Amino acid sequence: MAEQLLFWHRRDLRLADNLGLAAAYQRSPKVVGVFCLDPAILQRDDVAPARVHYMLGCLQELQHRYGEAGGQLLILQGRPQQQIPALAAALGAAAVYWHRDVEPYSRQRDQAVAEALKEKGIEMCTTFWDQLLQSPGQVLTGGGTPYTVYTPFWRKWVQLPKAEPVPAPESFEGLSDREQTALEQGGTVALPSLQDLGFEWSSPLPLAAGEWAAQRRLEEFCREDRAIAQYGEARNLPCEDGTSRLSAALKFGAIGIRTVWAMAEAAYSRCRSDETRQNIRAWQQELAWREFYQHVMYFFPELAEGPYRPQWQYFPWVNDKQQFQAWCQGRTGYPIVDAAMRQLNQTGWMHNRCRMIVASFLTKDLIIDWRWGEKYFMQRLVDGDLAANNGGWQWSASSGMDPKPLRIFNPASQAKKFDPEAEYIRQWLPELRHLDTAPLVTGQIPEEDCDRNGYPRPIVDHKRQQAIFKDKYKAEKAATT
Ligand SMILES: Cc1cc2nc3c(=O)[nH]c(=O)nc-3n(C[C@H](O)[C@H](O)[C@H](O)COP(=O)(O)OP(=O)(O)OC[C@H]3O[C@@H](n4cnc5c(N)ncnc54)[C@H](O)[C@@H]3O)c2cc1C
Repeated sequence: MAEQLLFWHRRDLRLADNLGLAAAYQRSPKVVGVFCLDPAILQRDDVAPARVHYMLGCLQELQHRYGEAGGQLLILQGRPQQQIPALAAALGAAAVYWHRDVEPYSRQRDQAVAEALKEKGIEMCTTFWDQLLQSPGQVLTGGGTPYTVYTPFWRKWVQLPKAEPVPAPESFEGLSDREQTALEQGGTVALPSLQDLGFEWSSPLPLAAGEWAAQRRLEEFCREDRAIAQYGEARNLPCEDGTSRLSAALKFGAIGIRTVWAMAEAAYSRCRSDETRQNIRAWQQELAWREFYQHVMYFFPELAEGPYRPQWQYFPWVNDKQQFQAWCQGRTGYPIVDAAMRQLNQTGWMHNRCRMIVASFLTKDLIIDWRWGEKYFMQRLVDGDLAANNGGWQWSASSGMDPKPLRIFNPASQAKKFDPEAEYIRQWLPELRHLDTAPLVTGQIPEEDCDRNGYPRPIVDHKRQQAIFKDKYKAEKAATT
Protein backbone atom coordinates (compact mmCIF):
# COMPACT_ATOMS: atom_id res chain seq x y z
CA MET A 1 0.00 0.00 0.00
CA ALA A 2 1.24 3.49 -0.86
CA GLU A 3 2.54 5.64 1.99
CA GLN A 4 0.37 8.54 3.12
CA LEU A 5 2.19 11.88 2.85
CA LEU A 6 1.19 15.40 3.77
CA PHE A 7 2.32 18.48 1.85
CA TRP A 8 2.04 21.71 3.84
CA HIS A 9 1.47 24.68 1.50
CA ARG A 10 2.52 28.15 2.61
CA ARG A 11 3.88 30.48 -0.06
CA ASP A 12 3.62 27.90 -2.85
CA LEU A 13 -0.09 27.90 -3.72
CA ARG A 14 0.10 25.87 -6.91
CA LEU A 15 0.52 22.32 -8.22
CA ALA A 16 2.88 23.01 -11.14
CA ASP A 17 6.60 23.61 -10.65
CA ASN A 18 6.34 22.88 -6.95
CA LEU A 19 9.60 21.23 -5.83
CA GLY A 20 8.51 19.74 -2.52
CA LEU A 21 5.17 18.54 -3.81
CA ALA A 22 6.81 16.94 -6.84
CA ALA A 23 9.32 15.17 -4.56
CA ALA A 24 6.55 13.92 -2.26
CA TYR A 25 4.51 12.72 -5.23
CA GLN A 26 7.51 10.88 -6.63
CA ARG A 27 7.75 9.00 -3.34
CA SER A 28 4.04 8.19 -3.14
CA PRO A 29 0.93 9.22 -5.11
CA LYS A 30 -0.95 9.40 -1.82
CA VAL A 31 -0.23 13.04 -1.03
CA VAL A 32 -2.74 15.25 0.74
CA GLY A 33 -2.22 19.02 0.62
CA VAL A 34 -2.87 21.20 3.65
CA PHE A 35 -2.91 24.93 4.35
CA CYS A 36 -3.10 26.33 7.87
CA LEU A 37 -4.75 29.71 8.53
CA ASP A 38 -2.43 30.88 11.27
CA PRO A 39 -3.84 33.46 13.73
CA ALA A 40 -0.30 34.59 14.52
CA ILE A 41 -0.19 35.96 10.97
CA LEU A 42 -3.83 36.80 10.29
CA GLN A 43 -4.32 38.71 13.52
CA ARG A 44 -1.26 40.90 13.16
CA ASP A 45 -1.90 44.61 12.73
CA ASP A 46 -0.16 44.78 9.37
CA VAL A 47 -2.33 42.42 7.37
CA ALA A 48 -3.72 43.85 4.13
CA PRO A 49 -7.30 42.83 3.22
CA ALA A 50 -6.25 42.79 -0.46
CA ARG A 51 -3.52 40.28 0.33
CA VAL A 52 -5.82 37.96 2.27
CA HIS A 53 -8.37 38.23 -0.54
CA TYR A 54 -5.72 37.22 -3.08
CA MET A 55 -4.53 34.36 -0.88
CA LEU A 56 -8.06 32.97 -0.40
CA GLY A 57 -8.62 33.13 -4.15
CA CYS A 58 -5.42 31.15 -4.69
CA LEU A 59 -6.51 28.58 -2.11
CA GLN A 60 -9.91 28.22 -3.71
CA GLU A 61 -8.37 27.48 -7.09
CA LEU A 62 -5.82 25.15 -5.53
CA GLN A 63 -8.58 23.14 -3.86
CA HIS A 64 -10.24 22.82 -7.23
CA ARG A 65 -6.99 21.69 -8.88
CA TYR A 66 -6.35 19.08 -6.22
CA GLY A 67 -9.92 17.86 -6.69
CA GLU A 68 -9.45 17.58 -10.45
CA ALA A 69 -6.35 15.46 -9.88
CA GLY A 70 -8.24 13.15 -7.49
CA GLY A 71 -6.69 14.68 -4.37
CA GLN A 72 -7.57 17.12 -1.63
CA LEU A 73 -6.34 20.39 -0.17
CA LEU A 74 -7.34 20.50 3.47
CA ILE A 75 -7.72 23.70 5.46
CA LEU A 76 -6.78 24.06 9.10
CA GLN A 77 -7.33 27.06 11.33
CA GLY A 78 -5.09 27.56 14.35
CA ARG A 79 -1.43 27.41 15.34
CA PRO A 80 0.51 25.19 12.91
CA GLN A 81 2.62 23.88 15.81
CA GLN A 82 -0.48 22.05 17.05
CA GLN A 83 -2.55 21.65 13.91
CA ILE A 84 -0.04 20.14 11.49
CA PRO A 85 1.26 17.37 13.79
CA ALA A 86 -2.31 16.55 14.91
CA LEU A 87 -3.51 16.20 11.32
CA ALA A 88 -0.45 14.19 10.30
CA ALA A 89 -1.09 11.80 13.21
CA ALA A 90 -4.83 11.52 12.44
CA LEU A 91 -4.00 10.64 8.83
CA GLY A 92 -1.27 8.21 9.81
CA ALA A 93 1.08 10.19 7.54
CA ALA A 94 4.59 8.79 7.14
CA ALA A 95 6.04 12.23 6.44
CA VAL A 96 5.20 15.91 6.14
CA TYR A 97 6.81 17.95 3.35
CA TRP A 98 7.24 21.70 3.22
CA HIS A 99 9.51 24.37 1.77
CA ARG A 100 12.01 26.47 3.62
CA ASP A 101 11.46 30.18 4.17
CA VAL A 102 13.60 33.21 4.98
CA GLU A 103 11.36 35.15 7.36
CA PRO A 104 12.25 35.08 11.07
CA TYR A 105 8.70 34.12 12.17
CA SER A 106 8.42 31.34 9.59
CA ARG A 107 11.75 29.86 10.60
CA GLN A 108 10.79 29.86 14.26
CA ARG A 109 7.37 28.36 13.49
CA ASP A 110 8.85 25.66 11.27
CA GLN A 111 11.29 24.70 13.97
CA ALA A 112 8.42 24.30 16.45
CA VAL A 113 6.40 22.18 13.98
CA ALA A 114 9.45 20.05 13.26
CA GLU A 115 9.95 19.39 16.98
CA ALA A 116 6.28 18.52 17.49
CA LEU A 117 6.41 16.08 14.57
CA LYS A 118 9.58 14.52 15.91
CA GLU A 119 7.85 13.88 19.23
CA LYS A 120 5.14 12.02 17.36
CA GLY A 121 7.74 10.05 15.42
CA ILE A 122 6.67 11.53 12.08
CA GLU A 123 9.32 12.19 9.45
CA MET A 124 9.66 15.61 7.86
CA CYS A 125 11.19 16.54 4.53
CA THR A 126 11.98 20.19 4.61
CA THR A 127 15.12 20.77 2.64
CA PHE A 128 13.58 22.37 -0.44
CA TRP A 129 14.05 26.05 -1.29
CA ASP A 130 11.18 26.41 -3.71
CA GLN A 131 10.59 30.16 -4.00
CA LEU A 132 14.15 31.03 -4.99
CA LEU A 133 16.31 30.21 -7.99
CA GLN A 134 19.36 30.17 -5.72
CA SER A 135 19.03 29.29 -2.08
CA PRO A 136 20.73 31.30 0.68
CA GLY A 137 24.31 30.11 0.91
CA GLN A 138 24.57 29.37 -2.81
CA VAL A 139 25.52 32.94 -3.71
CA LEU A 140 28.51 33.92 -1.62
CA THR A 141 31.50 36.23 -2.01
CA GLY A 142 34.98 34.84 -2.69
CA GLY A 143 35.50 34.94 1.08
CA GLY A 144 32.43 32.73 1.63
CA THR A 145 30.28 35.47 3.17
CA PRO A 146 26.84 36.65 2.04
CA TYR A 147 26.72 39.64 -0.27
CA THR A 148 25.50 42.90 1.21
CA VAL A 149 25.58 44.84 -2.06
CA TYR A 150 23.25 44.03 -4.92
CA THR A 151 25.45 44.54 -8.02
CA PRO A 152 28.12 41.92 -7.21
CA PHE A 153 25.33 39.62 -5.98
CA TRP A 154 23.62 39.93 -9.35
CA ARG A 155 26.86 39.24 -11.28
CA LYS A 156 27.39 36.03 -9.36
CA TRP A 157 23.71 35.05 -9.22
CA VAL A 158 23.10 35.35 -12.96
CA GLN A 159 26.04 33.09 -13.79
CA LEU A 160 24.90 30.22 -11.60
CA PRO A 161 22.89 27.45 -13.26
CA LYS A 162 19.11 27.67 -12.75
CA ALA A 163 16.88 24.63 -12.24
CA GLU A 164 14.19 23.73 -14.77
CA PRO A 165 10.49 23.76 -13.78
CA VAL A 166 9.11 20.48 -12.45
CA PRO A 167 5.76 19.10 -13.64
CA ALA A 168 2.56 19.07 -11.60
CA PRO A 169 1.47 15.72 -10.12
CA GLU A 170 -0.89 14.03 -12.58
CA SER A 171 -3.28 12.19 -10.31
CA PHE A 172 -3.31 11.64 -6.59
CA GLU A 173 -4.43 8.49 -4.85
CA GLY A 174 -7.48 9.46 -2.80
CA LEU A 175 -8.28 8.65 0.82
CA SER A 176 -10.21 5.60 1.89
CA ASP A 177 -13.53 6.06 3.74
CA ARG A 178 -11.83 5.26 7.03
CA GLU A 179 -9.12 7.84 6.40
CA GLN A 180 -11.74 10.36 5.37
CA THR A 181 -13.51 9.89 8.71
CA ALA A 182 -10.19 10.26 10.54
CA LEU A 183 -9.70 13.50 8.67
CA GLU A 184 -12.97 14.92 9.85
CA GLN A 185 -11.72 14.35 13.36
CA GLY A 186 -8.38 15.94 12.45
CA GLY A 187 -9.68 19.50 12.84
CA THR A 188 -10.08 20.48 9.19
CA VAL A 189 -12.46 23.31 8.27
CA ALA A 190 -14.10 24.63 5.12
CA LEU A 191 -12.22 27.45 3.37
CA PRO A 192 -13.56 30.59 5.06
CA SER A 193 -14.62 33.71 3.19
CA LEU A 194 -12.82 37.03 3.53
CA GLN A 195 -15.65 38.30 5.74
CA ASP A 196 -15.41 35.18 7.92
CA LEU A 197 -11.83 36.22 8.62
CA GLY A 198 -12.91 39.76 9.46
CA PHE A 199 -11.67 41.56 6.34
CA GLU A 200 -13.31 43.48 3.53
CA TRP A 201 -12.05 44.07 0.03
CA SER A 202 -14.17 44.61 -3.06
CA SER A 203 -11.91 46.30 -5.65
CA PRO A 204 -10.41 44.35 -8.53
CA LEU A 205 -6.81 43.30 -7.94
CA PRO A 206 -3.93 44.01 -10.37
CA LEU A 207 -3.84 40.28 -11.10
CA ALA A 208 -6.62 37.74 -10.57
CA ALA A 209 -5.83 35.15 -7.91
CA GLY A 210 -4.54 31.67 -8.64
CA GLU A 211 -2.18 29.60 -10.70
CA TRP A 212 -4.10 29.90 -13.95
CA ALA A 213 -4.18 33.70 -14.01
CA ALA A 214 -0.51 33.94 -13.04
CA GLN A 215 0.54 31.55 -15.80
CA ARG A 216 -1.54 33.46 -18.40
CA ARG A 217 -0.08 36.78 -17.23
CA LEU A 218 3.46 35.46 -17.44
CA GLU A 219 2.89 34.11 -20.96
CA GLU A 220 1.36 37.38 -22.08
CA PHE A 221 4.15 39.45 -20.55
CA CYS A 222 6.88 37.33 -22.17
CA ARG A 223 5.33 37.08 -25.63
CA GLU A 224 7.38 38.46 -28.48
CA ASP A 225 7.11 42.24 -28.75
CA ARG A 226 5.14 42.40 -25.52
CA ALA A 227 5.95 44.21 -22.29
CA ILE A 228 9.14 42.32 -21.51
CA ALA A 229 10.67 43.54 -24.77
CA GLN A 230 10.19 47.18 -23.77
CA TYR A 231 10.60 46.73 -20.05
CA GLY A 232 13.76 48.84 -19.59
CA GLU A 233 11.95 52.07 -20.33
CA ALA A 234 8.30 51.19 -19.79
CA ARG A 235 8.89 49.96 -16.24
CA ASN A 236 9.51 53.54 -15.14
CA LEU A 237 6.28 54.99 -16.48
CA PRO A 238 3.50 54.55 -13.94
CA CYS A 239 0.73 55.37 -16.44
CA GLU A 240 1.73 52.40 -18.61
CA ASP A 241 1.08 48.74 -18.05
CA GLY A 242 4.79 48.13 -18.54
CA THR A 243 5.56 45.72 -15.70
CA SER A 244 4.42 42.15 -15.12
CA ARG A 245 2.23 42.71 -12.03
CA LEU A 246 3.23 39.23 -10.98
CA SER A 247 4.39 40.33 -7.53
CA ALA A 248 1.47 38.87 -5.56
CA ALA A 249 1.74 35.63 -7.55
CA LEU A 250 5.42 35.45 -6.69
CA LYS A 251 4.76 36.30 -3.06
CA PHE A 252 2.22 33.48 -2.65
CA GLY A 253 3.81 31.13 -5.15
CA ALA A 254 0.85 31.06 -7.53
CA ILE A 255 3.61 30.77 -10.13
CA GLY A 256 6.88 28.87 -9.75
CA ILE A 257 10.06 30.90 -10.00
CA ARG A 258 11.68 28.29 -12.29
CA THR A 259 8.75 28.67 -14.68
CA VAL A 260 9.17 32.45 -14.60
CA TRP A 261 12.87 32.20 -15.31
CA ALA A 262 12.45 29.63 -18.09
CA MET A 263 9.88 31.84 -19.81
CA ALA A 264 12.15 34.90 -19.61
CA GLU A 265 15.09 32.87 -20.92
CA ALA A 266 12.98 31.59 -23.82
CA ALA A 267 12.06 35.19 -24.64
CA TYR A 268 15.76 36.10 -24.44
CA SER A 269 16.81 33.35 -26.81
CA ARG A 270 14.13 34.40 -29.35
CA CYS A 271 15.43 38.00 -29.41
CA ARG A 272 16.82 39.45 -32.54
CA SER A 273 18.17 42.73 -31.15
CA ASP A 274 20.58 43.66 -28.39
CA GLU A 275 18.13 46.26 -27.20
CA THR A 276 15.43 43.67 -26.57
CA ARG A 277 17.94 41.43 -24.87
CA GLN A 278 18.85 44.30 -22.54
CA ASN A 279 15.20 44.84 -21.74
CA ILE A 280 14.75 41.21 -20.79
CA ARG A 281 17.92 41.32 -18.72
CA ALA A 282 16.51 44.37 -16.91
CA TRP A 283 13.47 42.32 -15.91
CA GLN A 284 15.64 39.42 -14.80
CA GLN A 285 17.57 41.89 -12.65
CA GLU A 286 14.35 42.67 -10.80
CA LEU A 287 13.89 38.96 -10.12
CA ALA A 288 17.41 39.04 -8.73
CA TRP A 289 16.50 41.99 -6.47
CA ARG A 290 13.75 39.81 -5.07
CA GLU A 291 16.26 37.05 -4.35
CA PHE A 292 18.86 39.48 -2.98
CA TYR A 293 16.41 40.81 -0.39
CA GLN A 294 15.38 37.29 0.61
CA HIS A 295 18.98 36.20 0.99
CA VAL A 296 19.87 39.18 3.17
CA MET A 297 16.74 38.67 5.30
CA TYR A 298 17.88 35.10 5.85
CA PHE A 299 21.43 36.04 6.84
CA PHE A 300 20.61 39.30 8.64
CA PRO A 301 17.20 38.73 10.26
CA GLU A 302 17.78 41.83 12.41
CA LEU A 303 16.88 43.84 9.27
CA ALA A 304 13.24 43.06 10.06
CA GLU A 305 13.57 45.06 13.27
CA GLY A 306 15.52 48.13 12.27
CA PRO A 307 18.09 49.89 10.12
CA TYR A 308 21.12 48.09 8.72
CA ARG A 309 23.35 51.15 9.07
CA PRO A 310 24.09 52.05 12.70
CA GLN A 311 23.90 55.74 11.87
CA TRP A 312 20.15 55.41 11.52
CA GLN A 313 19.59 53.69 14.83
CA TYR A 314 18.87 56.92 16.70
CA PHE A 315 18.00 59.23 13.83
CA PRO A 316 15.90 62.15 15.15
CA TRP A 317 12.77 61.60 13.05
CA VAL A 318 10.11 64.29 13.32
CA ASN A 319 7.25 61.76 13.19
CA ASP A 320 4.36 64.23 12.87
CA LYS A 321 1.17 62.12 13.10
CA GLN A 322 -0.99 64.53 11.12
CA GLN A 323 1.48 64.65 8.28
CA PHE A 324 1.67 60.87 8.33
CA GLN A 325 -2.13 60.68 8.01
CA ALA A 326 -2.00 63.10 5.08
CA TRP A 327 0.60 60.89 3.39
CA CYS A 328 -1.48 57.74 4.01
CA GLN A 329 -4.60 59.33 2.57
CA GLY A 330 -2.93 60.87 -0.47
CA ARG A 331 -3.48 64.42 0.76
CA THR A 332 -0.01 65.93 0.96
CA GLY A 333 -0.57 68.54 -1.76
CA TYR A 334 2.15 66.88 -3.89
CA PRO A 335 0.21 65.45 -6.84
CA ILE A 336 2.58 62.61 -7.79
CA VAL A 337 2.78 61.47 -4.16
CA ASP A 338 -0.98 61.69 -3.65
CA ALA A 339 -1.76 59.91 -6.92
CA ALA A 340 0.49 57.03 -5.87
CA MET A 341 -0.98 56.72 -2.37
CA ARG A 342 -4.47 56.68 -3.81
CA GLN A 343 -3.50 53.97 -6.26
CA LEU A 344 -2.27 51.95 -3.29
CA ASN A 345 -5.37 52.58 -1.20
CA GLN A 346 -7.78 51.81 -4.02
CA THR A 347 -6.07 48.86 -5.70
CA GLY A 348 -3.73 47.29 -3.13
CA TRP A 349 -0.81 47.81 -5.52
CA MET A 350 1.52 50.68 -6.41
CA HIS A 351 3.91 51.10 -9.29
CA ASN A 352 7.56 50.59 -8.30
CA ARG A 353 8.67 54.07 -9.42
CA CYS A 354 5.95 55.55 -7.23
CA ARG A 355 6.86 53.32 -4.28
CA MET A 356 10.30 54.94 -4.43
CA ILE A 357 8.84 58.45 -4.76
CA VAL A 358 6.43 58.16 -1.83
CA ALA A 359 9.00 56.41 0.35
CA SER A 360 11.54 59.16 -0.28
CA PHE A 361 8.86 61.77 0.42
CA LEU A 362 7.89 60.18 3.73
CA THR A 363 11.43 59.81 4.97
CA LYS A 364 13.26 62.78 3.46
CA ASP A 365 10.48 65.40 3.16
CA LEU A 366 8.24 64.58 6.09
CA ILE A 367 11.18 63.17 8.06
CA ILE A 368 9.06 60.29 9.34
CA ASP A 369 10.59 56.97 10.39
CA TRP A 370 10.63 54.60 7.42
CA ARG A 371 9.18 51.86 9.64
CA TRP A 372 5.86 53.75 9.72
CA GLY A 373 5.75 53.64 5.94
CA GLU A 374 6.91 50.04 5.84
CA LYS A 375 4.02 49.05 8.09
CA TYR A 376 1.46 51.08 6.17
CA PHE A 377 2.57 49.41 2.94
CA MET A 378 2.15 46.00 4.59
CA GLN A 379 -1.35 47.01 5.69
CA ARG A 380 -2.30 47.76 2.07
CA LEU A 381 -0.17 45.86 -0.43
CA VAL A 382 -1.52 42.78 -2.15
CA ASP A 383 2.12 41.76 -2.69
CA GLY A 384 3.30 42.89 0.78
CA ASP A 385 6.34 40.81 1.54
CA LEU A 386 8.66 41.29 4.49
CA ALA A 387 11.96 40.94 2.62
CA ALA A 388 11.06 43.02 -0.47
CA ASN A 389 9.19 45.68 1.48
CA ASN A 390 11.86 46.04 4.12
CA GLY A 391 14.52 46.14 1.41
CA GLY A 392 12.62 48.79 -0.56
CA TRP A 393 12.07 50.94 2.51
CA GLN A 394 15.61 50.70 3.78
CA TRP A 395 16.87 51.52 0.27
CA SER A 396 14.61 54.58 0.13
CA ALA A 397 15.46 55.72 3.65
CA SER A 398 19.20 55.22 2.93
CA SER A 399 19.38 53.07 6.07
CA GLY A 400 20.00 49.78 4.25
CA MET A 401 22.63 48.05 2.15
CA ASP A 402 22.55 50.45 -0.80
CA PRO A 403 26.13 51.72 -1.18
CA LYS A 404 24.93 55.23 -2.12
CA PRO A 405 25.00 57.18 1.16
CA LEU A 406 21.97 59.41 0.61
CA ARG A 407 19.18 59.56 -1.94
CA ILE A 408 16.61 62.33 -2.04
CA PHE A 409 13.95 62.39 -4.74
CA ASN A 410 12.46 65.69 -5.85
CA PRO A 411 8.74 64.91 -6.46
CA ALA A 412 8.46 67.49 -9.25
CA SER A 413 11.54 66.24 -11.11
CA GLN A 414 10.31 62.66 -10.75
CA ALA A 415 6.88 63.60 -12.13
CA LYS A 416 8.45 65.54 -14.99
CA LYS A 417 10.62 62.62 -15.97
CA PHE A 418 8.23 59.72 -15.45
CA ASP A 419 4.74 61.21 -15.83
CA PRO A 420 5.44 64.14 -18.17
CA GLU A 421 1.86 64.39 -19.46
CA ALA A 422 0.43 63.93 -15.95
CA GLU A 423 -1.62 60.95 -17.16
CA TYR A 424 -1.01 58.97 -13.99
CA ILE A 425 -1.69 62.01 -11.80
CA ARG A 426 -4.99 62.69 -13.59
CA GLN A 427 -6.01 59.05 -13.29
CA TRP A 428 -5.75 59.01 -9.52
CA LEU A 429 -6.60 62.62 -8.67
CA PRO A 430 -9.96 63.14 -10.39
CA GLU A 431 -10.49 66.47 -8.61
CA LEU A 432 -7.52 67.90 -10.56
CA ARG A 433 -8.22 66.19 -13.88
CA HIS A 434 -9.27 69.39 -15.63
CA LEU A 435 -6.04 71.28 -14.85
CA ASP A 436 -3.20 71.86 -17.31
CA THR A 437 -0.28 69.47 -17.29
CA ALA A 438 2.34 71.94 -16.01
CA PRO A 439 0.88 72.61 -12.53
CA LEU A 440 0.11 68.93 -12.05
CA VAL A 441 3.66 67.91 -12.84
CA THR A 442 5.42 70.70 -10.94
CA GLY A 443 2.95 70.49 -8.09
CA GLN A 444 2.37 74.22 -8.25
CA ILE A 445 -1.41 74.12 -8.17
CA PRO A 446 -2.84 77.65 -7.88
CA GLU A 447 -4.30 78.14 -4.41
CA GLU A 448 -7.73 78.99 -5.77
CA ASP A 449 -7.77 75.67 -7.65
CA CYS A 450 -6.83 73.84 -4.46
CA ASP A 451 -9.63 75.54 -2.56
CA ARG A 452 -12.20 75.08 -5.31
CA ASN A 453 -11.43 71.40 -5.76
CA GLY A 454 -10.92 70.44 -2.15
CA TYR A 455 -7.29 69.56 -2.85
CA PRO A 456 -4.81 70.33 -0.04
CA ARG A 457 -2.06 72.91 -0.36
CA PRO A 458 1.44 71.38 0.05
CA ILE A 459 1.83 70.32 3.68
CA VAL A 460 5.59 71.01 3.59
CA ASP A 461 8.06 72.85 1.39
CA HIS A 462 10.38 70.39 -0.36
CA LYS A 463 13.43 72.71 -0.44
CA ARG A 464 13.11 73.66 3.19
CA GLN A 465 12.58 70.09 4.34
CA GLN A 466 15.54 68.93 2.32
CA ALA A 467 17.75 71.44 4.15
CA ILE A 468 16.39 70.35 7.54
CA PHE A 469 16.85 66.73 6.68
CA LYS A 470 20.43 67.24 5.51
CA ASP A 471 21.32 69.08 8.71
CA LYS A 472 19.97 66.26 10.81
CA TYR A 473 21.78 63.73 8.64
CA LYS A 474 25.10 65.57 8.97
CA ALA A 475 24.75 65.89 12.74
CA GLU A 476 23.87 62.21 13.10
CA LYS A 477 26.74 61.17 10.87
CA ALA A 478 29.19 63.26 12.90
CA ALA A 479 27.85 61.73 16.14
CA THR A 480 28.24 58.14 14.95
CA THR A 481 31.64 58.33 13.24
C1 LIG B 1 9.36 51.14 -0.65
C2 LIG B 1 9.19 49.86 -1.48
C3 LIG B 1 8.42 48.82 -0.98
C4 LIG B 1 8.25 47.65 -1.73
N1 LIG B 1 7.49 46.62 -1.21
C5 LIG B 1 7.38 45.46 -1.90
C6 LIG B 1 6.64 44.37 -1.35
O1 LIG B 1 6.12 44.42 -0.24
N2 LIG B 1 6.52 43.24 -2.12
C7 LIG B 1 7.10 43.13 -3.35
O2 LIG B 1 6.95 42.09 -3.99
N3 LIG B 1 7.82 44.13 -3.86
C8 LIG B 1 7.98 45.29 -3.19
N4 LIG B 1 8.70 46.33 -3.73
C9 LIG B 1 9.39 46.11 -5.02
C10 LIG B 1 8.60 46.50 -6.28
O3 LIG B 1 8.03 47.77 -6.13
C11 LIG B 1 7.48 45.49 -6.63
O4 LIG B 1 8.00 44.18 -6.60
C12 LIG B 1 6.94 45.75 -8.02
O5 LIG B 1 6.43 47.05 -8.11
C13 LIG B 1 5.84 44.76 -8.31
O6 LIG B 1 5.29 44.98 -9.57
P1 LIG B 1 5.50 43.95 -10.76
O7 LIG B 1 5.15 42.58 -10.33
O8 LIG B 1 4.80 44.51 -11.95
O9 LIG B 1 7.09 44.02 -10.96
P2 LIG B 1 8.02 43.74 -12.21
O10 LIG B 1 8.66 45.02 -12.55
O11 LIG B 1 7.34 43.01 -13.29
O12 LIG B 1 9.16 42.82 -11.57
C14 LIG B 1 9.07 41.39 -11.56
C15 LIG B 1 9.17 40.87 -10.16
O13 LIG B 1 10.44 41.14 -9.61
C16 LIG B 1 10.33 41.40 -8.22
N5 LIG B 1 10.79 42.77 -7.96
C17 LIG B 1 10.72 43.82 -8.81
N6 LIG B 1 11.32 44.90 -8.26
C18 LIG B 1 11.75 44.52 -7.05
C19 LIG B 1 12.44 45.19 -6.00
N7 LIG B 1 12.83 46.45 -6.10
N8 LIG B 1 12.68 44.50 -4.88
C20 LIG B 1 12.32 43.20 -4.75
N9 LIG B 1 11.68 42.53 -5.71
C21 LIG B 1 11.40 43.16 -6.85
C22 LIG B 1 8.87 41.26 -7.85
O14 LIG B 1 8.66 39.95 -7.38
C23 LIG B 1 8.18 41.49 -9.18
O15 LIG B 1 6.92 40.89 -9.28
C24 LIG B 1 8.88 47.52 -3.00
C25 LIG B 1 9.63 48.59 -3.49
C26 LIG B 1 9.79 49.75 -2.75
C27 LIG B 1 10.61 50.88 -3.30
